[in-house]
Amino acid sequence: MFRSLEPLLEQVSKPIQYVGGELNSTVKPWDVGGDCTVRWALMYPDAYEVGVPNQGVMILYEVLNERPDALAERTYAVWPDLEALMREHGVPQFTVDAHRPVGDFDLFGLSFSTELGYTNMLTALDLAGIPLHAADRDESHPVVVAGGHAAFNPETIADFVDAAVVGDGEEAVLAITDIVGAWKREGMPGGRREVLLRLARTGGVYVPAFYDVGYLPDGRIQRVAPNAPGVPWRVAKHTVMDLDAWPYPKQPLVPLAESVHERMSVEIFRGCTRGCRFCQAGMITRPVRERSITGIGEMVERGLAATGFEEVGLLSLSSADHSEIADVTKGLADRYEGTNTGLSLPSTRVDAFNIDLANELTRNGRRSGLTFAPEGGSERIRRVINKMVSEDDLIRTVAAAYGAGWRQVKLYFMCGLPTETDEDVLQIAELAKRVIDTGREVSGRRDIRCTVSIGGFVPKPHTPFQWAAQLGADETDARLDKLRQALRADRRYGSAIGFRYHDGKPGIVEGLLSRGDRRVGRVIEAVWRDGARFDGWSEHFSYERWMAAAERELAAFGIDVAWYTTREREESEVLPWDHIDSGLDKEWLWQDWLDALDETEVDDCRWTPCFDCGVCPQMGTEIEIGPTGKTLLPLTVLGSGRARMAEHAHP
Ligand code: SF4
Repeated sequence: MFRSLEPLLEQVSKPIQYVGGELNSTVKPWDVGGDCTVRWALMYPDAYEVGVPNQGVMILYEVLNERPDALAERTYAVWPDLEALMREHGVPQFTVDAHRPVGDFDLFGLSFSTELGYTNMLTALDLAGIPLHAADRDESHPVVVAGGHAAFNPETIADFVDAAVVGDGEEAVLAITDIVGAWKREGMPGGRREVLLRLARTGGVYVPAFYDVGYLPDGRIQRVAPNAPGVPWRVAKHTVMDLDAWPYPKQPLVPLAESVHERMSVEIFRGCTRGCRFCQAGMITRPVRERSITGIGEMVERGLAATGFEEVGLLSLSSADHSEIADVTKGLADRYEGTNTGLSLPSTRVDAFNIDLANELTRNGRRSGLTFAPEGGSERIRRVINKMVSEDDLIRTVAAAYGAGWRQVKLYFMCGLPTETDEDVLQIAELAKRVIDTGREVSGRRDIRCTVSIGGFVPKPHTPFQWAAQLGADETDARLDKLRQALRADRRYGSAIGFRYHDGKPGIVEGLLSRGDRRVGRVIEAVWRDGARFDGWSEHFSYERWMAAAERELAAFGIDVAWYTTREREESEVLPWDHIDSGLDKEWLWQDWLDALDETEVDDCRWTPCFDCGVCPQMGTEIEIGPTGKTLLPLTVLGSGRARMAEHAHP
């Protein structure tokens, strides 16, 4: 359908994002596996520039396209300028690979890193000609499957998706492909209901239509129960145990258009057991599974050769925690010394060891900025959130950084954490001033900087804070304003301390969508009909539009946005996501919530005995960490990044 799309592209901004053709993209014949080919359209529901580097989609795209009986293509959210033209000219939602209509695929898989992509899903469904409500679809429509971290509470989008999968996607998409392929080969017996039943009965695919939700008179959930034979009460998450067996992406995509990360990424481990209580990603991706040092070396080598990128990001939730990180970074820095290849470690915790690492990573480069995330301003609040960093640790770390020639340190915090007071947040100003004093002292210079960056805390499902009251938008703004005044009050620091923050409003919408239930689906649909698109973008986001839609739609149930966000829950309350099994015991989470309120810290179970969070026995496994005792060598030494790109771009 490119012929109908092409004339529209000259009328829109950044048309290159819609044309595909990226290095390492794949276009397979529609009938590559015969009549029963299983065809997936994969969507990252945000703009192309944000979606194209997404590792999850890239991995699934490659894993599926390696199968001879399947094909996968990608689609992204189109900007409102193209959306209007597509509606005017009857052009449906399309894939960027072969420009095929999304509505023609067997499965439409969406990966939600954040709930703010939900309205973009509705735009895509609508443009694709797929009924918004799962209940209105028939055999001619794709099966709509949600995944990603937001799918750990799929209830708010239960009306719109046919299925949701939680956890790692690699093995899950292959299992779904097997089931859908078999059903097609048998002549699609029992129609759409039958294939959904087959998926649901595996216990690893959640089909909302097969569950009924009952409510108590006060609005809380009474229970969620399966309504079809053979459908389990709880749906389990998927966990890939051996990352070395899944060295994807092998051929990372290299976009022609600008994207948010112009680098290749290698995931060095999955999961995190540090136990930060606010961190949904850490909780839901347990247990820790490391990629081996040789596996990392091979992926870096193969990925650089396949892409020509000059930067490698070593990804994970806390990259410095890999048991062999020092050997990995030193090995890679040695190996690529004298080339243009740079390394980056996007997530690091605060300690002096990481300054050594950062120095290693920038051995040949510029030392511009380092980012640390103490998350909480006071030691007290850091005990509440289980982020075990003392102020002295932080100061020692920044001293090492400024002493090693770094000029700028960025500190990331959250506002609105449970039990937080103004005083906890005002401590951030004191900390920032101490950081500048320390930097000036160790470097002997005046031109050092510290940027304080603050995000609003949103309580998330499957964390110990899932019961917590979220701080209201006005209270968040007032607290941040006091901090801003405290930072600006002392002229000795002038522009040495930068301050970046968002107001509290988007966090309230995210909070509603994160901890909502099926009734919130009406709000999502109403706000989308009112024009909501790209809610993760401040220039498109409208708090007032969301609040107006929520007030209208929730009134019939006698509840409101505050009920979902700023209300603390009790232990006995049935939470909307209780039937989605993340592996964590609810009793353990509740105990950890009580520990938070008592300001009691819990260690990382990688280095201490197990705390019985429940994940390992459930997965039939144990924490998987090294050291393996192996080294990156012997790997062949290659030429410069640029030379290799030329070699491999034209095999
Ligand atoms: S079950 Fe024990 S060892 Fe496994 S992640 Fe939980 S606390 Fe850690």
